[in-house]
Amino acid sequence: MTRIPEVSRRTFIGGLTTTLAGLERAPWAASAAQNPRKRVPPQSEDYDRMAKLSFNENPYGPSEAVMEAMTGAFKYANRYGYPDGGIIEAIAEHHRLKPENVLLGAGSSELLKVADDTFLIDRKKVVGVDPTFGSVYLFAANSRAEAIKVPLLPDFRMDIPGILRAVKSNYRDVGFVYLCNPNNPTGNIIPKQEIRLLLDGIPGDVPVLIDEAYHHFVESPDYATSIPYILEGRQVIVTRTFSKIAALAGMRLGYGLASREMIERMSPFANGSINAIVKWGGVAALRDTAAQARVRQNILTLRKKVTGELTALGYSVIPSEANFFMVHVRRNVAPVIEEFEKRGVQVGRIFPPMVEHLRVSVGTPEEMVRFMAAFKEIFRAA
Ligand code: PLP
Repeated sequence: MTRIPEVSRRTFIGGLTTTLAGLERAPWAASAAQNPRKRVPPQSEDYDRMAKLSFNENPYGPSEAVMEAMTGAFKYANRYGYPDGGIIEAIAEHHRLKPENVLLGAGSSELLKVADDTFLIDRKKVVGVDPTFGSVYLFAANSRAEAIKVPLLPDFRMDIPGILRAVKSNYRDVGFVYLCNPNNPTGNIIPKQEIRLLLDGIPGDVPVLIDEAYHHFVESPDYATSIPYILEGRQVIVTRTFSKIAALAGMRLGYGLASREMIERMSPFANGSINAIVKWGGVAALRDTAAQARVRQNILTLRKKVTGELTALGYSVIPSEANFFMVHVRRNVAPVIEEFEKRGVQVGRIFPPMVEHLRVSVGTPEEMVRFMAAFKEIFRAA
């Protein structure tokens, strides 16, 4: 298997990425399995020796070209106004859109917060599935807005007819719909026909935010990005991130794509706190398609291998189109996560009501060997 080339990190300013905190925190404390917000930051030597399979990160790190571009941008560290490498134009061009269709965020999480702030005013509600990536609901709760959560179907698919019903019966109260495609934590997709069904069926003035953080890891021919709907003039916002395929989670860069009108509505709520270095890294990442292809291939190969091994052991795995998967361990995952942690493997957290499903990120080949060894040890008695 091809390893992504190790970049000479000594030439990069060491430790910077660890100082720019990501949204989720590392799961170290005993309570980690229960409540990720109570997680205690690790000592760096503990952190380095763990197999890090809990935050759906890219284990290979940024490519050589991205590291070079970021290193070159350090000369702007003392500036407010500086050349930014043309990041907005590069994103627009990448998607065949215009710069007016792009809004940057310090990670795509910022765009989710911006959407809440823009569309949930006047006691409006967000509609989405449950479980999904919880930040939108958390941001909504923080601003005293409510969420209408539609449970997943018994086979863990997202219930698009259920979303439509929820929107129609609460029409006057709905601020926007949030969909994660592929979904986190399950890793499965909403087929393109169902996205169309939703957009055709929903009242035309209800914005739909489609979070495509894991877009690059999809293989299914039933999947399609929702970006073309923006060009059709629909009230669609697509969010993407540099945290996954480009391995820049610690550097914080994501973006939203939408019509000029929607971007204008949302942009007053974005705080513009993206650093100079990652803007240059983002431009280089978009250009380095070979590195992205290598990451994708490594992840897909390993996802298939490990999920195959778990299935062979008699455990069912939800078919995943992301850089993580969920395995049904047939017991509550909270103590299981702690057992993994004792063996130097971070996995999890718990995603109620799927309390017997363990979410595992696809790490390096070595990390996955450690995961499988720990898995066999923990479940040997069973
Ligand atoms: N959306 C989904 C579905 C995610 O899983 C994540 C992070 O794991 C994010 C958005 C946030 O990513 P970031 O803020 O790093 O771009």
